[in-house]
Amino acid sequence: MSKGLKMYSAKKKDAEGLAVKISKLSKADNKNLRCAYCMADIQYVSAYLSGASKHLVDAYLRLGKNEDHTNECKNSVKGFIDRLVADSNAIEDIPSIFELQEDGSFLFRMNLLVEAQKAAEDLSNLTDNDRSPKNTSYGHDYVRTGQRLESYFRSASGIAKLRALIKDSSDVDLLKGLVKIKYKNSYIKWDDFYYDNSNYNTLFDRVTKAKLSHPVAVNVTTKVNLRHSTTAKKCPWRYQCISKIATKNEKKFIYVPWLEFSDEKIANIVSQSSTYLIVGKVWAGKIKDEQSEFRHFNVSIHNRCQIKKETDEFDA
Ligand SMILES: [Zn+2]
Repeated sequence: MSKGLKMYSAKKKDAEGLAVKISKLSKADNKNLRCAYCMADIQYVSAYLSGASKHLVDAYLRLGKNEDHTNECKNSVKGFIDRLVADSNAIEDIPSIFELQEDGSFLFRMNLLVEAQKAAEDLSNLTDNDRSPKNTSYGHDYVRTGQRLESYFRSASGIAKLRALIKDSSDVDLLKGLVKIKYKNSYIKWDDFYYDNSNYNTLFDRVTKAKLSHPVAVNVTTKVNLRHSTTAKKCPWRYQCISKIATKNEKKFIYVPWLEFSDEKIANIVSQSSTYLIVGKVWAGKIKDEQSEFRHFNVSIHNRCQIKKETDEFDA
């Protein structure tokens, strides 16, 4: 039985009207909360510190004991996937990144995302004149490639957000059964696609050993204000995120994710101390000081659809 997703808004049973955001709720509202999309009972869970790094997990809402969402409810794994697939199909003339399989599951075709990314890179050197929709050779292509890439990134960050909202291992198994990620001619395991604070060290090791040929999803919480680097040419706007402390061969290491942006407008969407799901390429520079306990890695962001905020209501 599905345990349902983490939620950040709910309806009050004793009041009519719209769902109420979690910032306006407290433990005192328990027994008076129901799901924003069905009648299931909901409970408030207070914020707490997690793991050796003691990072703060914000307050959230969860399904009450012995409760269940309806099948179509958007706060269930199946309901969330159906909504993502419907949104990805809503764009005319763009092949959906989700392919329905005979058993009712969906194939997430990572090839389409990587191909669209490559096409966008190839077109990025065009002049403004070439990009104009009036330009018959490139203009149309440029607009279509942009729409295709945005749609694919939106779907990819959507499934990453769904994974982040899952609390229960039976729901993780449900997701793995319902969405399979295919890249080139093989499947990518969910554990090789999605990384959060519990496995930044695994991600860092894979990146530095050049074992990542596809984009991945990273769950990060921003720490301090946006910084602007005068030396970085491609991605000068950067956010440092909450790190993970891990021990390897009895030595302590601190794994620090950075978000880096090529465009200031996109960087400004992100705010301090918030949790985001990012889909993109991850890279790490050469370790300059082997003795240092710090291990930095970077997630590059060029498109606003690469980012989703964990606490936002349905925003696909
Ligand atoms: Zn529900």
